[in-house]
Amino acid sequence: MKKVVKLLGVLMLMLCFAFTANGAEKKEKLYVGTNAEFPPFEYLEEGKVVGFDIDFINAIGEVMGKEIVVKDMSFDGLLPALQTNKVDVVVAGMTATEERKKAVNFSQPYYSANQVIILAEGNNDIKDFADLKGKKVAVMLGFTGDVVVSEMEDVKVERFNAAYAGIMALQNGKVDAVVLDSETANNYVAKNSGLKLAEGKGEAEDYAIAVKKSDAKLLEEINAAIDQIKADGTFGKIIEKHFN
Ligand code: GLN
Repeated sequence: MKKVVKLLGVLMLMLCFAFTANGAEKKEKLYVGTNAEFPPFEYLEEGKVVGFDIDFINAIGEVMGKEIVVKDMSFDGLLPALQTNKVDVVVAGMTATEERKKAVNFSQPYYSANQVIILAEGNNDIKDFADLKGKKVAVMLGFTGDVVVSEMEDVKVERFNAAYAGIMALQNGKVDAVVLDSETANNYVAKNSGLKLAEGKGEAEDYAIAVKKSDAKLLEEINAAIDQIKADGTFGKIIEKHFN
């Protein structure tokens, strides 16, 4: 009997060790919502979501000691997913607009962009936003470009679900211009022949990470992690990798 009790004791001890070892390896997860149709910030490569934002949030997760789990969804589904706890944060080249700030909190800004106009190479009538009057202009549903162009008078707005669909409409002559964020626009112009950017640029806008209003502690931790990766050179390396 004594032997059995001893054996049981040893077994329990072993089980205990097994659990602690396992527990130490298992990091808490941080669920990240993004829309992988916004190169170079997020896009698919061999079925995997990659890009600046993914490296950025992984570096933040490293500092926070959390495992990053990326969930890819439509851009207009991102903030609803955040509000309904399907994700913990949104990292999607998302501009911290006043309108969105009513619904969610944003981290410190991490990238500055502006809206630009993409044109077919031969188009010389459109130089600036004012010249979009009377023209057919493609925007992406719910993007800041949609907001900017929808506020203009006499513009025929065509809304698309993804940037590449707007670019295709431009290539096929179905629209006169596409209004999109500068870095992504540069990317499309560089990778497709026959496209160019108009000279005029929109106002500057800041990308930031969106967090639920009720998650004050998470927001603080994310801001502290951004400070750290900016200070230790990690952030600079990620910028270098994707933009130079
Ligand atoms: N910066 C733009 C916005 O916030 C577009 C972002 C995106 O498509 N991922 O609306």
